[in-house]
Amino acid sequence: MTTETTASLTSRDACAPEKHWLWVAVATPAHSGIGELLTYWSDTALPPGSLVRVPLGRREVLGVVWDAPGDAGPAELPEGVKARAIAGVLQGVEALSASWRRLTAFTARYYQRTLGEVALAALPPQLRDLTPEQMARRLKRAPSQAAQAAGMIPNAEGAPAACAAPPLSAEQGQAAELIATRPGPFLLYGSTGSGKTEVYLHSVQQALAADPLAQALVMVPEINLTPQLEERFVQRFAPIYGAGAVVSMHSAMTNPQRLKSWLAAHTGQARIVLGTRMAVFASMPHLALIVVDEEHDASYKQQEGARYSARDLAVWRAREQNAKVILGSATPSLESWHASRPPAKEDPQGGRYLRLNMPSRIGAAELPRVRLVDMAQQPRGAVFSAPLLQAITERVERGEQCLVLLNRRGFAPVLHCKECGWKSDCPHCSAHQVFHKIDRTLRCHHCGFTQRVPHSCPGCGNVDIAPIGRGTEQLEEQLAALLRNVITPERRAARVARIDADTTKAKGALQEQLAAVHGGEVDVLVGTQMVAKGHDFRRITLVAAVQPDGALFSSDFRAPERLFALLMQAAGRAGRDANYIAKQGGNPPEMWIQTWHPEHPLYSALRQHDYPRFASGQLQERMDAGMPPFAYQALVRADARTQEAAQAFLNAVSQAARDAQLPGLAHVFLFPPVPLVVQRVANVERAQMLVESTHRGALQHFLAAWQSLLHAERVNHRAVIRWLIDVDPQGI
Ligand SMILES: [Zn+2]
Ligand SMILES: [Zn+2]
Repeated sequence: MTTETTASLTSRDACAPEKHWLWVAVATPAHSGIGELLTYWSDTALPPGSLVRVPLGRREVLGVVWDAPGDAGPAELPEGVKARAIAGVLQGVEALSASWRRLTAFTARYYQRTLGEVALAALPPQLRDLTPEQMARRLKRAPSQAAQAAGMIPNAEGAPAACAAPPLSAEQGQAAELIATRPGPFLLYGSTGSGKTEVYLHSVQQALAADPLAQALVMVPEINLTPQLEERFVQRFAPIYGAGAVVSMHSAMTNPQRLKSWLAAHTGQARIVLGTRMAVFASMPHLALIVVDEEHDASYKQQEGARYSARDLAVWRAREQNAKVILGSATPSLESWHASRPPAKEDPQGGRYLRLNMPSRIGAAELPRVRLVDMAQQPRGAVFSAPLLQAITERVERGEQCLVLLNRRGFAPVLHCKECGWKSDCPHCSAHQVFHKIDRTLRCHHCGFTQRVPHSCPGCGNVDIAPIGRGTEQLEEQLAALLRNVITPERRAARVARIDADTTKAKGALQEQLAAVHGGEVDVLVGTQMVAKGHDFRRITLVAAVQPDGALFSSDFRAPERLFALLMQAAGRAGRDANYIAKQGGNPPEMWIQTWHPEHPLYSALRQHDYPRFASGQLQERMDAGMPPFAYQALVRADARTQEAAQAFLNAVSQAARDAQLPGLAHVFLFPPVPLVVQRVANVERAQMLVESTHRGALQHFLAAWQSLLHAERVNHRAVIRWLIDVDPQGI
């Protein structure tokens, strides 16, 4: 289907006023039972992709005119179907392209949601809320900006930006050359500090220079990483293509900002869109290149509504829109790594992605030396081993900075009474309430329930209730105490600071705290994985992970992969600046790991910075166990008032699938239902069931056919509050 196809068909009744039938996607609740597309009429013909306001029940909502169902669709409405007229058209907003419609339709199909839900959620909220009149006013304001930007384009020759681009290293040049000449998809495997961003910038520049309309989409996993990226792209491209050529798209923007960025991309005025996972749906009619930075990051997977993977959709979209796609990482996901294995005669599936290697670090010191501390050799209960504390002390005394990583915020994961065994359990969840000492509260990190810390044990009245385990808050306090006599070269006491989700709630707080680190006001930074991601700490020469072992024996088979990526990324924070290291007397940067399992293969691979070895070990295990990427998975989850009710529903739909002999069933394995690891959240019991197949297609067929049975069975299970399907789930 092309953009020229029209979904509107003219009524053949010559006497009546001409009616053009329209098939419209509207945001219906996921399981409302309303058909995929609703039928309306309009007195003018509207091409598919047009944005319209339509009545829905008593409300008026935004809809997208869709292609006629089937080949041409019925010329007239079937007997008995009543269609209402549309309420209006959003004039001035060009119709969404056929490729955008295919992207959203594919997303809905693949992730088992309704088309209307996905299509409408992919549009900026204000577009959904503004009336045609408000929209027209908004658009009237835009031309002046467009003209302003247009005045600055094109200015390809003699622009100052030409000198801003540093020459590429041999490795970078080779990667860029292959990206320019091969079709891809590309997996840019480059160690931290190897200059992947420069390759992105170069490839974007090439794509934009090759075609005066071309657009590029650059995605990052975290909102916090967009400002620094935006700065680099604006610096490079604004002098060439104008100030409006680079726009951002992420959920921390205000609704008017989001609409403005969206319109700029949709009209082609913005040549570059930078954003988080939601940006994968940006309407970009002239998309030529997509970059997915840190492609292994779990944040690319949406965790509610349509649970899409923006990375996977980027690869699909690039192929569909004939664009190139670069996935970049120092620790690629095992899926992408496996897809980029070299092709071989006996393995024709190999080489689906082209792997580009960039092993060298640019302008940075050598990769940090990894030191493992065997905690079995340390005094019982020690949080910081003596050698680690010594190393931190020495660095601080030399004026260097350290980063201490712990993936648990709060002061302690639980409060405990030794007398009666009481624990600070959340009354609404099967989880402990975390002790936050700073405001003397107990907080549930699952449902948010917050209480004052009781003065005495609610069970027996004992006043001696104590925290067990530790979080970042406690670590910060303990470190400050341990380092209280340590003096920096500026003759002041050592300063310890903490960055995690609790300290960065306020807008701009993270930026402020990072600035304090950069400004040298902080000597030791304590934080969660948040600080390990992408931030450029030039003066940090030591990174320590104090309790990373948990992930080694997790029930989630992806936990080791995530831990390895986190530790590699954290190690990459150390020694970012070779000049600085040299000035400090050339002490090589170090990464310290405190572990009870120093012999674990994950740590020995980490010690060598050997991602390929780690990956091949993991892939072998996954192959032996028949797990992704050697199998495809989906989860069906049910939430109910009781665990029995949730599991009964899953057992029933499982049986119904067998009774109905659903297509694909022969190639699909249905596991029995089990409770989630955190079984109860906010008084809701949760159960899930794994569905697995070695054929992606068979799994898809099965899930599509299963949907209607799930809807039907729900009626017999009143206690079920909701159910959902998660295709290619990230956590099991
Ligand atoms: Zn007690
Ligand atoms: Zn709770």
